[in-house]
Amino acid sequence: MSSMFDLDGRKAIVTGANTGIGQGIAVALAKAGADIALVGRSAAEETQSLVRAEGRKATLISADLSSIAPVGDVVDQAVSDLGRVDILVNNAGIIRREDALDFSEDDWDAVVDTNMKTLFFLSQAVGRHMVKWSSQDGARGKIVNIASMLTFQGGIRVPSYTASKSGVGGLTKLLANEWAPKGINVNAIAPGYIATNNTAALQADETRNRQIMERIPEGRWGDPADIGGAAVFLASRAADYVQGHILAVDGGWLAR
Ligand code: NAP
Repeated sequence: MSSMFDLDGRKAIVTGANTGIGQGIAVALAKAGADIALVGRSAAEETQSLVRAEGRKATLISADLSSIAPVGDVVDQAVSDLGRVDILVNNAGIIRREDALDFSEDDWDAVVDTNMKTLFFLSQAVGRHMVKWSSQDGARGKIVNIASMLTFQGGIRVPSYTASKSGVGGLTKLLANEWAPKGINVNAIAPGYIATNNTAALQADETRNRQIMERIPEGRWGDPADIGGAAVFLASRAADYVQGHILAVDGGWLAR
């Protein structure tokens, strides 16, 4: 089916795709027709099988994204595996919880480096290729960053996470400003409360779980598949005129 949402023949990198939101996005992009390079530090064979079950190519690239050391190799490998990269989904991320009064430098650096510094330098490395390809054949590159409710709100006991995800929002707009004229769309998705490893402790806490669900107009936790549709939209031609936008996919959380 050819539609504005069709990703047939498009080549994507998804970071942190072995589980959770990254897996949901990889499978959704594959359903829409994209081949995927699955980048991460843990085995992503399950996601690879799910992508292949959609009839798409899935390659595995092993990389620890807590530093920018592997960034060049990741992009070289993805281009070698897939021929080019049309879509980059910066999904890999971590969170550390502690009172602001006791928060350590290690918990600051680990989160900010993974969630924001690597996101920027991986975007830069992929962006350099996208600019070149776009000037040659006019195909637009698509970068989708995974932000958070804490791109908009302050949160509590997660200072480095809030700083990093607020930074992701700012970088999404900055890169859109610089790269829109060069044939690249840069946008972000801000997931609400999604049931993944990242939120396992919250789901297991009966009181917090009830409080969270009561505040979500949809009345349920989100599923990684709920994020997939937004990723397909932002990666597709349907979003060619969408730039620097942070799309909340939150069951209405921010509307309260
Ligand atoms: P998750 O299940 O913990 O997945 C996080 C992914 O990032 C995993 O694949 C993880 O790999 C990868 N990752 C972490 N550190 C890495 C590193 N140093 N190198 C390579 N990969 C690394 O959590 P998730 O909820 O799906 O989170 C995905 C993204 O969504 C994150 O950016 C998170 O901040 C964001 N988010 C989540 C929610 C939510 O409610 N779940 C809400 C807002 C935003 P490993 O399996 O090896 O750790």
